[in-house]
Amino acid sequence: MCVWCERYADGYERWYFNPANYARRLYKIRKEEVEAAGAEANPQAAGGMSLLGRDFLEAKERNDIEAMERMRREAEEISWRTHFGQVITLDDALKIADIMYPIAVMTCACRRSMQGLPDEENFTCMGMGPGMYKWERWPDTYRGGVQFLTPEEAKEVLTKLNKRGLVHCIYTFGTPYIGGLCNCDYPDCGGIRTRIDHGVRVLWKGHQVAQVDPELCNGCAACIHRCQFRALSFAPTRNKAYIDPIQCFGCGLCALECDQEAITLVERSSLPALVEAW
Ligand code: SF4
Ligand code: SF4
Ligand code: SF4
Repeated sequence: MCVWCERYADGYERWYFNPANYARRLYKIRKEEVEAAGAEANPQAAGGMSLLGRDFLEAKERNDIEAMERMRREAEEISWRTHFGQVITLDDALKIADIMYPIAVMTCACRRSMQGLPDEENFTCMGMGPGMYKWERWPDTYRGGVQFLTPEEAKEVLTKLNKRGLVHCIYTFGTPYIGGLCNCDYPDCGGIRTRIDHGVRVLWKGHQVAQVDPELCNGCAACIHRCQFRALSFAPTRNKAYIDPIQCFGCGLCALECDQEAITLVERSSLPALVEAW
């Protein structure tokens, strides 16, 4: 169980299955707090990630470990209160589509800034909850508009994006209010990039870890390209896929690609060495 489940699951299997974490009541609190602080309640405000700009890169360049650690801690603390994400599997994303209403798909701000994609080719980001009814207040964030989806349509879009190789992540906007179901990849996604390149936990690992059964793996290598987290590699001498359990974020993309059913997801909590590795 992760710290977010300890704090916010309230009897549900995972904290993001608790409908209270999507509730209008939390959205209102968050909006009032942000506005009282004099800031604009923009749903895509960057949280702690915005602290990791030039200063952090310069500290990294001169290998100033102390300064980097300080900035990392600050960024994490702010993110955990304001805007952070956790990787989830497709199965969990599909369950969320049944819990949460409304859901809308919109242009992805990360890919827009990394690739300059035209908005109409870039509808991969999902927003959820009461905040979506206010989208017209932030025309730049929601450039290209939003498309509201029924739960069944949302599931179809999620399944298609998963086939495309995108990882599902939930994002808070004023923790524990969950307002985003993002579909991300490396290096486009700011959250994945910040975690993988700088080790800053603004994006948490998921509740499961993937394992390969060498008896079932036939060495076809079809799964290798699916991993956005550098956890999956191919051992040519053994002709088998290999998953680094420390590096695995439990997104499940590799398992869905394997037609031999050689990859399974096991609960992180069942693996003593990984139980605290979020
Ligand atoms: S978090 Fe993911 S879906 Fe959301 S804006 Fe970034 S890459 Fe796009
Ligand atoms: S897709 Fe399955 S069978 Fe093929 S290499 Fe990966 S784990 Fe092995
Ligand atoms: S090894 Fe599989 S489950 Fe783990 S992060 Fe990579 S693709 Fe996701």
